Amino acid sequence: MAVTMKGLLFIIPFVFCPSVLCGVAGLPRERKSLVKRVGGPTPRFQNFNEQNPASQARLQAIQNAFPDVKELAQQAIHNLVPYADVYRQYLPSQAPDWPQRAAGIYHEIIDFKSPLMIPPRDIEFGHKIVGITFTDEDFLLQEGEDHCGAGAEAYTKNVPKEEPNGPVVLIHICRDFLDAVASGQDLTERTFDQINVNGLRFGLGMDPPGSYTLKVTEDMAALATTIFHEFMHANIFSDVLFSGSPIPPAQQGPGGANIVDHQNLGVGRDGYGPYQARMLNRQHPELAKTHAEAYVWIAMEIVWTERLKSRLGIPAFQNGRLLPPNPLQDESSSSDSQMSQ
Ligand SMILES: [Zn+2]
Repeated sequence: MAVTMKGLLFIIPFVFCPSVLCGVAGLPRERKSLVKRVGGPTPRFQNFNEQNPASQARLQAIQNAFPDVKELAQQAIHNLVPYADVYRQYLPSQAPDWPQRAAGIYHEIIDFKSPLMIPPRDIEFGHKIVGITFTDEDFLLQEGEDHCGAGAEAYTKNVPKEEPNGPVVLIHICRDFLDAVASGQDLTERTFDQINVNGLRFGLGMDPPGSYTLKVTEDMAALATTIFHEFMHANIFSDVLFSGSPIPPAQQGPGGANIVDHQNLGVGRDGYGPYQARMLNRQHPELAKTHAEAYVWIAMEIVWTERLKSRLGIPAFQNGRLLPPNPLQDESSSSDSQMSQ
């Protein structure tokens, strides 16, 4: 329970795959500029079985989530100035240039192309391939790491150029999780449009009669939220954040990832969700810069504020913003559906 852990605040890196499996280095910068020149990384899909309806449903669910992924990146960029206060909730105010840098990683994702519109193609760099690959194979299980079995939603591996088939970013969305999302059995919805907006209202008794409260909540998460989270671990996107001041290898995450999952033992079991991300920024602002959920929930909070404004209107007393997230709700959610790595 969060209550019993108050006063105990420690941060440990959330290690989910040993460096020996995940490689050691980010992509060289010249490679990123090549990616830019061809218009951004294009996703590839691997090991999705055309003969298997369940596998095809998983593939379709991922593809259907791409418009939401783009919405997250676009809204975060377009609202860099008007939502500067939201950026500051998740990123340290001591680093005033960091929101602008964060917009850089969102720009990288904007260039991400949906294979629904453009046939998947590899981006060639000599004989190497640079890009993002979604694979339906639980490839770390083959290497003795059962993250999906341990409740993870997904994981990402930066395969450096030194490894066979590198450099590439491999993303596996765990089959059980994705099956549940694709079939509507998981609380995480497939797309933002499928989230029941009325379910996001909280009547806490403190509101004027007839009004409601809208908090930042993990109930706003869709499959795109998981994909966006995994993208934060992809150095092909995040290198731009740390240009000029690369993350020293000793401080990189598993597999040489620039952006990791910090764990905040003081406020919950993990560092996932908007409440944990805000708390991390308050207690350990330097770590917030390399915390995946910080970048996820900046974008999530902006998207959902804009969506709810246009659909419901936000009461004036909320000052045009969602209310802060509730720690207890984060805590309960983290036990089941927020285990993405
Ligand atoms: Zn993660």
